[in-house]
Amino acid sequence: MPRPILATIHTDSLRHNLDRARRAAVESRVWAVVKANAYGHGIENVFESFRAADGFALLDLDEAQRVRALGWRGPVLLLEGVFEPRDLELCSRLDLWHTVHCDAQIDMLAAHKTQVPHRVFLKLNSGMNRLGFAPERYRAAWTRLNALPQVDEISLVTHFSDADGPRGIESSLAVFERATQDLPGERSLANSAATLRHASQTRADWVRPGILLYGSAPDFPEHDAAHWQLQPGMTLATRIIGTQALKPGDTVGYGSNFTADAPMRIGVAAVGYADGYPRHCDTGTPVLVDGVRTRTVGRVSMDMITVDLTPVPAAGFGSEVTLWGKASNGALLPIDEVAQAAGTVGYELMCAVARRVPVAVD
Ligand SMILES: *Cc1c(COP(=O)(O)O)cnc(C)c1O
Repeated sequence: MPRPILATIHTDSLRHNLDRARRAAVESRVWAVVKANAYGHGIENVFESFRAADGFALLDLDEAQRVRALGWRGPVLLLEGVFEPRDLELCSRLDLWHTVHCDAQIDMLAAHKTQVPHRVFLKLNSGMNRLGFAPERYRAAWTRLNALPQVDEISLVTHFSDADGPRGIESSLAVFERATQDLPGERSLANSAATLRHASQTRADWVRPGILLYGSAPDFPEHDAAHWQLQPGMTLATRIIGTQALKPGDTVGYGSNFTADAPMRIGVAAVGYADGYPRHCDTGTPVLVDGVRTRTVGRVSMDMITVDLTPVPAAGFGSEVTLWGKASNGALLPIDEVAQAAGTVGYELMCAVARRVPVAVD
């Protein structure tokens, strides 16, 4: 028998979350962001659920090819654009739309031989200071692109640094509006957080939700997935493979960093950091055993964790352990709560599920 760990992808939930994005931005077309192998869910596993999107946005050219290989003929956008000249050949061949965020990419386009001109998304740096043209250089970049025979339509795009937090989007939005004033072309502004939190101000031709599609709240802990009516796209679950009865003073795991202060039972679950469960989830991380909420105790090891069985006295060998997502009895454990216990975000956990974890689609 294989090790009992399993990641299950919930296609109905993914479909529901896409619909949620649509309802938050009814006047916009929706890019389903599927970078990083659909945030760890697997592009092939999410494809049917996201077929109702208007396009797929990602950044790895192999992933773009996989979307085309699945039969998708609609828009595909490369969020970081091309990395080297021959990438443009693939863009021509597969009809990929691509971001242009720097002069080197315009140089490559100018030297590219193509029968069919490309649709490009010209990126403005509105304050994040990662990719994009500075506001004072944006118009010159647009003019240069517009003069190229290799370029068809130019769309205007930016990415907010603070859509999920107290700084908000006001100043970035003002920068975008000033830099793009009077320029023709479709606009795309909003990631998940902006789509949910700033819908009225970021109304645009396209929205680019990623994390919300997978059921994680972009602004946790201010709001949780239930607040935004999102459902978990993935469940990571395993089983109890052993139990121990502790006496007061007994310790658990490497470093003995948990000590029982009363008699208690613990379960050993078949999951560890080699599966992508974060090693930072020390004592107190929430976990479900047979659908009942309890906590981890002691340190996460490579292949095992230990959990407090006090609230589930009937649990034992073979009991279901839900690390995040949905238990068989319907109980939910949001990935965001587990991420918080590990000092990180849901994004990192879902992207980090290890290759050795088998994946099922339901
Ligand atoms: C990843 C990404 C998104 C999606 O962001 P979420 O926070 O996951 O919604 C949108 N736009 C760009 C440019 C991205 O790189």
